[in-house]
Amino acid sequence: MQIDIVSVFPEYFDVLNLSLFGKAQSKGLVSVHAHNLRDWTHDVHHSVDDTPVGGGAGMVMKPEVWAECLDDLLGLEPREMNADGESDSNSNSGAGIPDGADATATTSAAAGESPSNGTGDAEHQPASDSASADTVPDSDSQAPTHNLDTVLIFPNPSAPLFTQRDATELSHAKRLVFGCGRYEGYDARIPAYYRAQGVDVREYSIGDYVLNGGEVAVSVMLEAITRLLPGFMGNPESIVEESYTGSEALLEHRQYTRPAVWRGMGVPDVLLSGDHGKVNRFRRDEALARTDAIRPDLIEQLDCAQLSKADRKT
Ligand code: SAM
Repeated sequence: MQIDIVSVFPEYFDVLNLSLFGKAQSKGLVSVHAHNLRDWTHDVHHSVDDTPVGGGAGMVMKPEVWAECLDDLLGLEPREMNADGESDSNSNSGAGIPDGADATATTSAAAGESPSNGTGDAEHQPASDSASADTVPDSDSQAPTHNLDTVLIFPNPSAPLFTQRDATELSHAKRLVFGCGRYEGYDARIPAYYRAQGVDVREYSIGDYVLNGGEVAVSVMLEAITRLLPGFMGNPESIVEESYTGSEALLEHRQYTRPAVWRGMGVPDVLLSGDHGKVNRFRRDEALARTDAIRPDLIEQLDCAQLSKADRKT
C-alpha cells in the first residue's frame, strides 16, 4: 500500500519508522511519504492559511496551496468549476475519472458518498452503497471488501466517526493520501473539488473532541488500517477476534495472563478448566454483557437472528 501524508509538520510521521509500522516498511508492505504542504507555496512566508471569509477567530487553510499539492500527488490537471459545482470540461486525465460523466454523480458513485451539495458537506455512506467498487464478500469483517484504488482522506472533527468498518474497507485500498488540517481547518471547497473530479474523498472524525491538527488523527487511522494488511502483524490470528471486529462488532471479553493468582486476585476458574467449550461460552457471555453495559448502541445494531439460544440468555 502506498501512503502519502500532507502536513505542515511532516516530521510528526518520523515515528512511523518504529515498531510494527517500521517493520512493515522494511518488508515492503507499505511505502510512506510525508510531504510538507509548504513546499507547494510560492510566497516568501510559505503561507498556507488566510482569515475566514465571513469573519471569526483563527485562520483557515487556503485551497490554492492544497490544490497544487494534491494535483501533483494525484496526477490531476487544474480545472475550473461551474456554478453547479461541476467541472466545466472533462479533459482531466487523472486516475479514476471517467470521461464525460457527470461530476457530482461520478463522485457519489466512486466515493460511496451521498451526492455532494458542492459545499463539502456530503457525508460518506457505508461502502456497500458504492456503485463502482468491485465488491468481494469478506467473512471476517463487518465491511464488504472493496478493491479500492486511491482514497483521499481528510481528518475533520465535524465529519462522520471513523470506525473499524472504515479501517477494514480502507485496508483494501492501493493508495491512501491523507491531508492534515490545522488552525480552524481547511477550506470546505477542497474535498468538494476533488469529489467533483471523481476522486474517492473521505472525511472522518476520530472522536468527539478537537485536536490541534490532523497529524494525530491520521496516525490513529493509519495504524487502524495498516495493522489489517496481510503480513503486518506477527500473528495474523491476533486481529481476527478483537473488539469491533467481525460481523457482530462486539467489545472483546476481558483478558488475563499468568500467574493464576496475583496479589490475591484470581482469574475466573473456568479459564483454568481446560474445557474449550466452557471457555468459549464464558468469553462470549462476557463479550455480550460488556458490550451491553458499555456500548448498548452496538448491541442495538446486532442482527438478533445471529444470536444463539445461549446468547439470548446472556
Ligand atoms: N474548527 C474546527 C472545528 O471546530 O470543527 C476544528 C479545527 S482543528 C483545531 C484543526 C484540524 O485538526 C482539523 O482540520 C482536523 O484536520 C484535525 N482534527 C482536530 N480534531 C479532530 C478529530 N476529532 N478528528 C479528526 N481530525 C481532527
